[in-house]
Amino acid sequence: MAISPLSKNILSLFLKKVCPACGSSLVDGALFCPWCELRIDQCSEIHWSSTGSPFRNPSGLQGTGMTGVPVYSAVMYRGLPGEIVVRLKFNGEKHLAKAAAGVFMQYSMKLPGPGDILVPVPAGRKRKRERGYNQAALITAKLASMSGCRSLDILVKDDSPSQVGLSPSQRRQNVAGIFHMRGRCRIPGGADIWLVDDVATTCSTIDSAAGVLLDSGASHVLGLTLAYRKRTTDSIIHR
Ligand SMILES: [Zn+2]
Repeated sequence: MAISPLSKNILSLFLKKVCPACGSSLVDGALFCPWCELRIDQCSEIHWSSTGSPFRNPSGLQGTGMTGVPVYSAVMYRGLPGEIVVRLKFNGEKHLAKAAAGVFMQYSMKLPGPGDILVPVPAGRKRKRERGYNQAALITAKLASMSGCRSLDILVKDDSPSQVGLSPSQRRQNVAGIFHMRGRCRIPGGADIWLVDDVATTCSTIDSAAGVLLDSGASHVLGLTLAYRKRTTDSIIHR
């Protein structure tokens, strides 16, 4: 049956694309509306997981005996990305996982490609039970479908106190030894493994989780977070 012009107009109203952050109308192909886009800053530094320090060229560290992995963050935490993280994490707005994955694709300096494996940084059992989901796993699933990668949920995490409010050295102690391989899961040989999380601050969480993957046979591990949060200037809601 042919659709009348009136029905088409009504249908287009329902199908109208809206900005996932603020609900205003969206230009075809855009991730956010122009106003929201203005509140996103790309992260132009790579951080080294064992120190949290920025590096311009991670390959320059090979052979220096330094442990750790490079951590790529798509954008800075301040502005819209921080709001997206808080709404996704604490307000149950799971639809924002798709927008977050889009931010990776649009802003990250380096992206996983086909053949690479994405591993979400897991949440502790208690936290996951309270929240009902792990936001890093939601983002990872969307990113896997956008980038053509496989996503493998092969890590588990012991319950630990929140990292919020801790000093860098306390953060490292807090996450030391809390990640483990899930059951009899194995790491596929030869693939680049990307550990995906929402926020990096000191990179200590990525460092601890990456250590488990490397100890379990991974040949190349990288960190990939949506946002990089500077400890001194950006705040995070603590609930
Ligand atoms: Zn908007």
